[in-house]
Amino acid sequence: MPDDSAPRIPPARRPAEPPGRAAGRAPARALRSAADLLAAGLLPAAQAAAAEAVAARYAIAVTPAAAALIDPADPADPIARQYIPDAAELVTAPWEIEDPTADAPFTPVRGIVHRYPDRALLKPLLACPVYCRFCFRREVVGPDGGLLTEAELEAALAWLAAAPAIREVILTGGDPLMLSPRRLAWLVERLSAIPHLDLLRIHTRVPVADPARLTPDLVAALDTPKGLFVCVHANHAREFTGEAPAALRRLIRAGIPLLGQSVLLRGVNDSEAALEALFRAMLRHRVKPYYLHQLDPAPGTARFAVPEAEGLALLARLRGRIGGHGLPAYVKERPAGGGKVPVAASG
Ligand code: SF4
Repeated sequence: MPDDSAPRIPPARRPAEPPGRAAGRAPARALRSAADLLAAGLLPAAQAAAAEAVAARYAIAVTPAAAALIDPADPADPIARQYIPDAAELVTAPWEIEDPTADAPFTPVRGIVHRYPDRALLKPLLACPVYCRFCFRREVVGPDGGLLTEAELEAALAWLAAAPAIREVILTGGDPLMLSPRRLAWLVERLSAIPHLDLLRIHTRVPVADPARLTPDLVAALDTPKGLFVCVHANHAREFTGEAPAALRRLIRAGIPLLGQSVLLRGVNDSEAALEALFRAMLRHRVKPYYLHQLDPAPGTARFAVPEAEGLALLARLRGRIGGHGLPAYVKERPAGGGKVPVAASG
């Protein structure tokens, strides 16, 4: 099977470019409501009322680039499954919780999460280019929320400056590449001026979900004398087609090393073929597969859950088929904010 194959699409319908939509047929702007999705042909009319009910609780956004990757004729399309709302989101399973990674108790000042001795998260905003239906921060992300005020950002920077044990800041959110180039450059410069910081890491979906946003100006904003990694969140090989490779090349040409992080998701990448295609696509685009996350139990996400034993078996079967540099660490969050640990057979 070719590396970039989409396992749910028969080979005869597997073009090099995104399926389903001829060039120019992608929507001109992000789709942000059930009505938008219906008009774009990405939501069956029978599901429109349920999608509206979901939208009242959780944000929706599908960028033109993400929409162009969806095959509307495939009811099991793995890209659509990540972004198109479903009535199942309104059902909270007994084990699901609002803050599954327990950010809140580890937040000393707004925007900072401090869970490990040498690292801290900085969440400058909670907006994203797309809103993933399985998101572990789905109760807080959205286009209207979470932008730190000037005073809050100064307080977060002051907290980092006063914490000499912190060596690495992980910019997350939301998606930090949703900041304007000017704002991002300012933030990177301020972080770069903190002497004890060695490394900045930026967790983002922008290169694959909204590659047009990754302009030369935005890439230039990441210039720093510190170490800097961009960690790209992608869950399916098809996310590395379309405009994404060019966006990734812009980062590579700027000398920025790329890591890949994915979530193991039922109906998206829960097969040996899908994971192999995903990891090979990352390698081909100079993205080192870094983490494969076990799904966090956020409300209304049970349809994406894959048991740990199944995930371990999938990765065991991939070992030997793909070089060690192509296999990410399979990790999960411990309950109550205990941090990440490897998924193990006994776990
Ligand atoms: S991009 Fe990340 S933070 Fe934003 S909705 Fe998707 S998983 Fe959540």
